[in-house]
Amino acid sequence: MNVFKFGGTSVGSVANMHMVKDIIVDGRKKVVVLSAMSGTTNTLVKIHKLSIENKLDKALSELLVLQGHYTTVLDELFEKSDRKQLVSNYVDSVFQDLRQLVSAPSSSLLYNNIVSKGELLSSFMFTHFLQSQHVKACLLPALDFMRIDKDGEPDNFYIKQNLNRLVKERVAVDIYITQGFICLDNEGEISNLKRGGSDHSATIIGAALDADEVQIWTDIDGVHNNDPRFVEGTHAISNLSFDEAAELAYFGAKILHPQTVMPARKAMIPVRLKNTMKPNSYGTLINQNASEEGIKAIAAKDAITAIKIKSARMLQAHGFLKKVFEIFEKYETSIDMITTSEIAISLTIDDTGSLEAIVVELEKFSTVEIDEQQSIICLVGNQIVKHKDTYRFFQVLQDISIRMISYGGSNNNISILVRSEDKIKTLQLLNSYVFGKVTA
Ligand code: ADP
Ligand code: ASP
Ligand code: MG
Repeated sequence: MNVFKFGGTSVGSVANMHMVKDIIVDGRKKVVVLSAMSGTTNTLVKIHKLSIENKLDKALSELLVLQGHYTTVLDELFEKSDRKQLVSNYVDSVFQDLRQLVSAPSSSLLYNNIVSKGELLSSFMFTHFLQSQHVKACLLPALDFMRIDKDGEPDNFYIKQNLNRLVKERVAVDIYITQGFICLDNEGEISNLKRGGSDHSATIIGAALDADEVQIWTDIDGVHNNDPRFVEGTHAISNLSFDEAAELAYFGAKILHPQTVMPARKAMIPVRLKNTMKPNSYGTLINQNASEEGIKAIAAKDAITAIKIKSARMLQAHGFLKKVFEIFEKYETSIDMITTSEIAISLTIDDTGSLEAIVVELEKFSTVEIDEQQSIICLVGNQIVKHKDTYRFFQVLQDISIRMISYGGSNNNISILVRSEDKIKTLQLLNSYVFGKVTA
């Protein structure tokens, strides 16, 4: 069994849905994980915001526009038929639910409920589209098997048991369609795997089914060596090891949700990234093979906060780091980068939800300085710390003010922290040095 995941652009238009159909109908059984149509989740997030701000009229008019879009898609996707009527009734009922949710915005699950609708819509429509084209397809509702535990981690035992049972119950099927992103929490309430989480759904499902391969189909021909939104002339990397891909995803390569690689690495299932619009291009294969030495790619992660914690007594005072880490542990805030000196440590976080409380506790034994709007620029590759050119890249960045450097923490990663306003320039400078012919 293989698992294929299609992102927002891949199911974002009727023409693209036809391309997806041509890709998945190849005579082999597979699970197909779908995102919401592109733009839908962003619009739902906006509608949620309007509703909690009590801007009901605006929220309802956004909903009307979105519903109009789905009506147009349905008209193009289906001939006039009972099936079309069935899908159209379903779409109407989802929008009716949404209108009710935004009109009485009291539930604590409002956000999770609202944003779940995009994947519910795309998967229902697409399953019926496949059936109308005589493909043996069925819907496997993600909420019947996908669940997270109290720490927000996939409940792998539950997922494996339920997913395998559901698949076995439906033998005469070639294509099992399911929703990415959405799941239940440990109390059985609607939840999700965070923005962009359909990639993660795909590898969780791949691991649960012991799949041969997980394919992530998107709007670009694989993982590029730098962020194509900010740097010109990037190219797809054909092979990445699990470790390299995990670092890249975690440190900002938007093409992969940060947690995507973990389940695949653990279960040793290769992950292939492919372009729906150019199915014949090779893409990127992520597996356990170690790759050539050297810098493979550069990525950036935004919205980073740097915290400097100073203590005159840190000098020779053992236990200081322990005290600091215990505070971050208590507030379940993970640290990305860290550097130390005799009297201070600097570290970075991306989740600032508990920052105020953390600072109050740190200030009991230190002085604290906060720098917001920082970006981590991360160089990823194999044995890059040892690579002969690596040490020179700081020369290339002589005009950029570097706030922190993390070097030697792993063989796969060198990270530097810069102000977000310097991010694009830093990406471009490093790109021309590392991948161009510029010498320092
Ligand atoms: P999907 O909707 O299919 O999940 P995403 O928008 O989440 O697609 O991810 C694909 C986009 O990620 C690309 O269109 C590209 O702009 C962006 N991107 C950022 N960094 C990279 C990278 N290193 N390699 C490839 N794409 C990247
Ligand atoms: N639709 C969700 C989002 O836009 C999940 C995904 O696309 O992966 O975040
Ligand atoms: Mg995505």
